[in-house]
Formats: sequence, structure tokens, C-alpha cells
Amino acid sequence: MGMVYLTGAGPGDMELLTLKALRVVKMADVIIYDRLANPDILKEAKNGCAFVYVGKEDGRHIMPQDQINEVIYQNALQHETVVRLKGGDPFVFGRGGEEAAYLHEHNITFEIIPGITSAVSAPAYAGIPVTHRGIAVSFRVVTGHEAPDKQTSQIPWENFKTDDTIVFLMGLHNLDKISQKLIEVGKAPTYPCAVISKGTTTEQRVVVGTLETIVERAQDMPTPALIVVGKVVELREQLAWFHT
Ligand code: SAH
Repeated sequence: MGMVYLTGAGPGDMELLTLKALRVVKMADVIIYDRLANPDILKEAKNGCAFVYVGKEDGRHIMPQDQINEVIYQNALQHETVVRLKGGDPFVFGRGGEEAAYLHEHNITFEIIPGITSAVSAPAYAGIPVTHRGIAVSFRVVTGHEAPDKQTSQIPWENFKTDDTIVFLMGLHNLDKISQKLIEVGKAPTYPCAVISKGTTTEQRVVVGTLETIVERAQDMPTPALIVVGKVVELREQLAWFHT
């Protein structure tokens, strides 16, 4: 039986892959990857390495998660070294926990290789620090996949009145509802926010606006994209450094 490495591929820029991830990619007998992992990483695999695509489209799963779990398991029965390569960090909205739990249930040994999450690195490449002395003492990473008007929403919207930075992943299609909801719970319509598309890649695009203007401004932004809400967004004026 094989060993499975649940591996973070980083946010896009190939050089944001960890040394540990690169080591297991080079060793792998099979790499199971999805859309968000930079395909150039696969070129580092050894000759004869098999590739299995279990594509995910912006939070909407092309292959259902239970099927992905089973694919990983079946590959672990057949190969010595299995790399499950996931965009960003495997435990930040990557459902890596579910994959690890499934392997545990089936007595397959695994290791987790954390990756650089887009939640922090895409803002960094946009010149937006998620915390900043005197401006934001904490940051949250929140799913934007769940529509804020949903009755059963588990998101503590009422807590979002503070100036802590909020990063929404998988939220571009709900941007109108998210910005509306934040105004509803008490944030000013002029409160700063940004949308970052394809962060850390050569196709990175950033738009800055307010809760009131961002929907209009971010209209044509391609996915993957994330939303940053917070006063830290204003620091971009001084800190933008990555130009595409
Ligand atoms: N595990 C991943 C997140 C998976 S959820 C991580 O740690 O980064 C997928 C969401 O991540 C996308 O909908 C988008 O909101 C965000 N995302 C991933 N890569 C991104 C990138 N390069 N730029 C902007 N957002 C990105």
C-alpha cells in the first residue's frame, strides 16, 4: 500500500511551491490534481509518473468529493507514492481534511504538506497586507460560496462590523450579496474592498473599490478570484509592487 501526500501547490506562481512539495512531486508515481494547481508543476514529475485530473471549477466540483476520495484511495492501493496536489493550502477550503479522513478510515498512511494559501499571498502580490499595525489586528478567511441571504447561513455576519480584514474565497459570483450584507450589518458603503483575480500569476488583475462600487468594477474579472474587505486595501496605493 502506498503513501499519500496531501500537498499544497501554492497559489499560482510556480516559485511559491515549497521545497517539500517539489520533493514529493519529483518522487510521485501518480499525481492527482485539480484546476487550481499550476500545471507547470506536473513537468517536474519523473518519467512514467501518471496524472489524474479531478477538476474543480471555482468551488463547484466537477467530480463529487466522495468520488475524488475514492480515486485517491484506489491509487494508494496501486502505487507506492501518491501525490494529491491541491491549489493553495490543502486545509484552507480545499477539503483536504475530508480526503485525509477517508484515507484514515481505509488505513492508508498520509502526510500533509501545507501550501501557501491564496488567501494571504494573492493580497500580498496586490500590495495588501492582511494585517497591519494600527489598521487591522486580525484577518478572517471566509467562504463566499454560501449566499448571505440563506436562512441557515453559518457565517457570523454580525461579527463583521469590526475593522478586521475579511478575505472571501469562492465568492465572486456572490459579490453583490456579500457587499450588500456587509452594508446591512453596519459597514459604511464607502468601506474599502478589492477583488484579486489569478493572484500571483502573470495574469493577475486587481480592482479596488468600495462596498458600493466593487460589483460594478469587478464585473469582468475572471476566476479564480478572491475578495478582500478592509482598510488594509488602502495600503495598496503605497505597497503595490507586482505589475503584470
Ligand atoms: N486551498 C485554496 C483555496 C481553495 S477554494 C487556497 O488555500 O488558496 C478556491 C478559491 O480560492 C477560489 O474560488 C478563489 O477564491 C481562491 N483562489 C485560489 N487561487 C487563487 C488565485 N491565484 N487568485 C485569487 N484567488 C484564488
